[in-house]
Amino acid sequence: MTSASVEAPPPGRPALLVHGGAWDIPLAETDAHLEGMIEALARGRTLLEAGASALDTVAETVAVLESHPAFDAGRGAVLDRSGQAQLDAGLMCGATHRWGAVAHVRRLAHPIHVARRLLEDDGQARLLVGAGAEAFAEEVGFDLIENEALIVERERERFAALQGADGFHTSQAFSGESHPRGTVGCIALDEQGRLAAATSTGGAPFVRPGRVGDSPLVGSGYYADTEAAASATGWGEAIAAVLLCGRAVDAVTAGSTPEGASAAGLDRMRQVVQGSGERGVAGAATGGLIVLDRHGRGGWAFTTPRMARGGWYSGGEPWTLL
Ligand code: ASP
Repeated sequence: MTSASVEAPPPGRPALLVHGGAWDIPLAETDAHLEGMIEALARGRTLLEAGASALDTVAETVAVLESHPAFDAGRGAVLDRSGQAQLDAGLMCGATHRWGAVAHVRRLAHPIHVARRLLEDDGQARLLVGAGAEAFAEEVGFDLIENEALIVERERERFAALQGADGFHTSQAFSGESHPRGTVGCIALDEQGRLAAATSTGGAPFVRPGRVGDSPLVGSGYYADTEAAASATGWGEAIAAVLLCGRAVDAVTAGSTPEGASAAGLDRMRQVVQGSGERGVAGAATGGLIVLDRHGRGGWAFTTPRMARGGWYSGGEPWTLL
C-alpha cells in the first residue's frame, strides 16, 4: 500500500516540509518525533519569515533535527556492526544546482553543516567520505567530537539485541517492525521562489561499517531544481536504484503534482525491488518521500505504517502528522 497525500495544505510561498523517517514508529516514540519536528519547523519558519534563502533554511532545519535524539540522524543515530554511529548527509540548492554531501563520518555533530560548506567550496569535491570528510571539516573550522557523543542508551540496547540475533540482513531493518529509520529531511521554497532539499541520517541499524545508503547521494536521497525539491527516507539500496528524488522532481516538471510524483516514485521503487528479486518482506520497498514544487504545493507518500512529517506555509501555522 502506498499512502499518498490527501491532506496537503494549500500552496503558499515561502513554505517548508520536513520528515523524520518512515517506519512503524511505536506509540512510545511518537511524542518525541512530533516534538522534534515542531522544534525544527519553528526554526525553519523563523528563517523563511526573516527572508532567509531556501538553502539556509533546509540546512538549519535539518541541524535542529540532527540535534534531537528521537531521530536516526546526528545524536540518536543507530549503530553499525562495530557499535559506532556512522552518519551521512547531503543537500542541494535548486537555483544553482550546487550540492554538497558527506558520508560515513563518525566525528561530526552536524554533518549537514559540513555538506553545506562543501556546497559552497570551490567545486573540486562535492561528496567527501570518512576520514577525508572529517579532515576537511577540521580544516574549515568545525570541531571533531567523539563518536560516543552521538550515541544514546536506546541505541546501545538495540545494538546489544541485534548482536545476539542470528543472521541479521540489512533489508530486515526495512521490513521488521521494531527497527528505526528516523532519517530526517527538509525541503523549502523561499520568498524569491528558490527551492532546496536536505537529508541527514545514521543509516540503518547493524550495517557493515562503511555501508552508505541513498541519503548522501544526490538524485537519490534528495534533489532540487527550479521546479521542485524532494527528500527521501527508507531502504537506501532500493531508493538509490530508482534515483527516487531526482525522478520525483522530474515527474513534477512533466506536469505531475507533488503527491502524484511521490506516489509514482514509490511505486517504481516497489516494481524494481520485486523485479530484481531483492530480499525483503514480499518484495516490499519500504520508504517515503516529501516533495514541494515552485508554487508551494507540497505532497508526500510512504509505504510504511507511519511517516513522521510536517510543514509550514506562509500565512498559516506549522502542522505535524504521524
Ligand atoms: N535511507 C537511509 C539509508 O538507507 C535510512 C532511512 O532513511 O531510514 O541509509
